[in-house]
Amino acid sequence: MTFTRDELLGIARTHVVSRSDFPFLVHRDALGPFLALRRAAARAGIDLWPVSAFRDFDAQVRIWNEKWTGRRALLARDGRRLDAAALTPRQRVDAILAWSAAPGASRHHWGTDLDVYDRAAVPADYRPQLLVAEYVADGPFAALGRWLEAHMTDHGFYRPYRRDLGGVQPEPWHLSHFPTAREASRRLRLATLKGVIGAAPIEGRAALLRRLPTIYARYVRTVEPPPGSRRALPLTRR
Ligand SMILES: [Zn+2]
Repeated sequence: MTFTRDELLGIARTHVVSRSDFPFLVHRDALGPFLALRRAAARAGIDLWPVSAFRDFDAQVRIWNEKWTGRRALLARDGRRLDAAALTPRQRVDAILAWSAAPGASRHHWGTDLDVYDRAAVPADYRPQLLVAEYVADGPFAALGRWLEAHMTDHGFYRPYRRDLGGVQPEPWHLSHFPTAREASRRLRLATLKGVIGAAPIEGRAALLRRLPTIYARYVRTVEPPPGSRRALPLTRR
């Protein structure tokens, strides 16, 4: 398994697949394992379902630009709403990165990562907010969180944003198929990101490019290390 440049950056869709009964795009090597994880969860009464899976480069540009211009809510790390127009370019970059990846730098481009919730734990019209409070203590997805902690590794999944490591905030809903993501992570170089961002219609591009080495180190490289690979992993089933 390998990633082309355009697959890494979410520009191509040649690496992702879906199924008639599963309308989400997932990397072809991660779909089988995710559906196996979903079946195992079902046996524990959990209806494991994505909020999102693959997201392409253009979608990430749209999110970025809407936050930059204030058309989409821009939030501080503590959840406070910020006024985009009152911030310097540097502050806007920081505020966006607290909650969203820079275009090209999202693990969702790889198709190996999914945001998930438990459909069985909430009413049918419930829209997951993707807040830590939903996944801990007495939140609706706390049981899901505990179950994942105990079982996801058996199916090749882990949480790259489990703790606050100074980059991306904790995201207990974000799962990564690490045998596949590991390869993408290895291949995504600073120069690749620099090239694609430099050529894309991204608001605040100059401010983003100026600090890209730091941003790359802090938000792309700083993730939870995947579980040790000494153990044989039951992943190759398709
Ligand atoms: Zn995510």
